[in-house]
Amino acid sequence: RMGTAERVETALDGTLNPFNKQPYSKQYRGILRNRKELPVYAQMTGFYDMLTRNQIMIVVGETGSGKTTQIPQLVCHLDVPHSRGKMVACTQPRRIAATSVAKRVADEMDFTLGKEVGYSVRFDDMTEPGTTFLKYMTDGMLLREAMSDPDLSRYSTLILDEAHERTLATDILMGLLKGVTKRRPDLRLIITSATLDTHKFQQYFGTDEYSLAPLFVIQGRTHPVEVIHVQEQKTDYTAAAISEVLRIHRVEGEGDILLFLTGQEEIERACKRIKKGVQDLLKQNPNAVGPLVCIPLYASLDAEQQERIFDPPPPRRNTGGLAGRKVVVSTNIAETSTTVDGIVYVVDSGVSKQSIYNPRIRIQSLSVSPISKASAKQRAGRAGRTKPGKCFRLYTEKEFNAFEGQDLPGILRSNLESTVLALVKIGTKDPVRFDYIDSPAPEALLRASETLNYLGALDNDGDLTILGRTMAELPLDPQLAKALVVSPEFGCSKEILAIVSMLSVPNVWLRPTDKRIEADEARASLTIPGGDHLSLLNVYDSWVQNSRDPNWSWNNYVSQRSLLEAEQARRQLESLMIRFGIKLVSAGKGSGLHDRVREALTCGFFMQVAHKEGRAYFTVKDNHEVFIHPSCGLDDRPEWVLYNEFVLTSRPFIRTVTAIDPEWLLREAESYYDIDSWNDGEAKYSLMRTRNTLPTQRSGRLPKRVKDNAIGE
Ligand code: ADP
Ligand code: MG
Repeated sequence: RMGTAERVETALDGTLNPFNKQPYSKQYRGILRNRKELPVYAQMTGFYDMLTRNQIMIVVGETGSGKTTQIPQLVCHLDVPHSRGKMVACTQPRRIAATSVAKRVADEMDFTLGKEVGYSVRFDDMTEPGTTFLKYMTDGMLLREAMSDPDLSRYSTLILDEAHERTLATDILMGLLKGVTKRRPDLRLIITSATLDTHKFQQYFGTDEYSLAPLFVIQGRTHPVEVIHVQEQKTDYTAAAISEVLRIHRVEGEGDILLFLTGQEEIERACKRIKKGVQDLLKQNPNAVGPLVCIPLYASLDAEQQERIFDPPPPRRNTGGLAGRKVVVSTNIAETSTTVDGIVYVVDSGVSKQSIYNPRIRIQSLSVSPISKASAKQRAGRAGRTKPGKCFRLYTEKEFNAFEGQDLPGILRSNLESTVLALVKIGTKDPVRFDYIDSPAPEALLRASETLNYLGALDNDGDLTILGRTMAELPLDPQLAKALVVSPEFGCSKEILAIVSMLSVPNVWLRPTDKRIEADEARASLTIPGGDHLSLLNVYDSWVQNSRDPNWSWNNYVSQRSLLEAEQARRQLESLMIRFGIKLVSAGKGSGLHDRVREALTCGFFMQVAHKEGRAYFTVKDNHEVFIHPSCGLDDRPEWVLYNEFVLTSRPFIRTVTAIDPEWLLREAESYYDIDSWNDGEAKYSLMRTRNTLPTQRSGRLPKRVKDNAIGE
């Protein structure tokens, strides 16, 4: 009798695809040859042994060893999910990883993407019910599915990939799945990680407190990497990075370069400057250096643009000329989640963009901060995939020694409102007592519950309200979900739907460095005086009126891609609205439409409000001084504004800002605006004056209206 590994190997080398009995294509064989080189192939017998004997296993292996692309396929060969109407799913922390890996694996398995192999990310579902049996998805999407099907009964095996990244959703999924595997002995669970620090996972998933979950180690074939620190601290890491790349290109041997920087803008700028630097060298001496291509890599690129990292380096200019070189300039996405082959040199800036949420003052701060020692090690490791490499660190050894050992898990630095709503929806009565792998501070959870209570999603006992149940069905932050659910009462749900969709996609406003004036003029012509939310609505409507013409977008400096994504989001949210009985209404232009849109937004965003005092703005209740972001389109300085986000960068900025009438705050958020209990101050006095002008108090109006009108039974 053949073992599973042997049987699978025979099937891979055969002439017919075992999953659909069709002959393999020629392309399949080409890719198979490369796949067989991956370390995981040499250990198939061991892998299948462990997989057949255990319900839960942990897999660890170097980046590029084949965890993401190969393990799910190997599982499918054993699991045969298609023969019993089940699926194998593999989660990814990043949207871009889920979509691009799905495409790669569809090619590897000789299928069309979206048929047998597909992906599912927010607002973009490339699967075919009944046909898809291997699905790559974001961890957030699987968490969403758990909200409506807590046993995840459609799946035979779940693979939580990149667990070392410790994203909020992956952490919550680990807790949920620990419970599900007990209820469903037929469900297999695989946790994969790129770092050796797996003891925590093994302990967490052990059957009792003394036993560890089994660990499968993929033996990588890595080469030594020489790590070189700078001698003196650098003040400008981008400038240092660019000259380091140019230096390597001039004097170091053949091999591609991977440069780690922090964000899109910085990366695009660095690519331009590196290209310019090479041109300058060539002007002095046409034979100074070989050809060089610079390829940016960050999360908001689309899958096609991201594919460019797999291009070979440029060829020599002529036979006997200098070798070409590829430079990939990346965020920490290339640390573990995307493998770039052929890298021999790593240039490590030592920083990354990190986001930390402070629940006490409800502030998200985004800053460029030193990475951890673990990250620095991962970055260096990227240089040793093909042959011995070098890692040039743009920081001193002393600076390195001061880095933290590990990054803080996402759950300890995120806003937990959506998570608490999800946990309550799934049936966790008390989010504080959930079995977390790392528990967040109870205060952070209480703050989140409190916000959900103010929004009307949780009642005073912590149970979901009717409103909360509907909000939980929408793949949106609670504030946006609330605004959308109540919008029919204001006769503007179509408008709020468009605004919510626009807020769910990357920034639409383009501002190329060499066309700033033109871009600002175009933006001004699309701006609506009442606020940025109305301007977003206007952009969307104008785009639709102009037949979604890419030339219109181009001429108006707005992103066609973001608009197409918003359109897709709108379509999906619309079908959810129909399913959950949220009426689609529009009162048409004029007749106070803009006021009603802003009032509906206030129902979701009354906790994100700032008041003008003198020349400055202060957030209500928390009293933080904030600045209106320069990108905002308000032409006067209204007394009261609501904002979509608060970011602490160089200053505390509020972004996407709209003027509101304080009367709406008193009417739509009575319990939050219990101004009699507030400390004295200008905001309180202003609201008291407003209250005195109102005819009568209308208490308890909101919950009733939502029940009667907004949600059909
Ligand atoms: P791991 O998850 O262990 O880091 P992966 O499964 O992502 O490893 O990658 C295995 C190999 O597959 C890598 O060598 C990578 O270069 C290759 N690979 C992945 N995606 C593509 C693609 N789109 N085109 C070409 N090669 C790819
Ligand atoms: Mg991977």
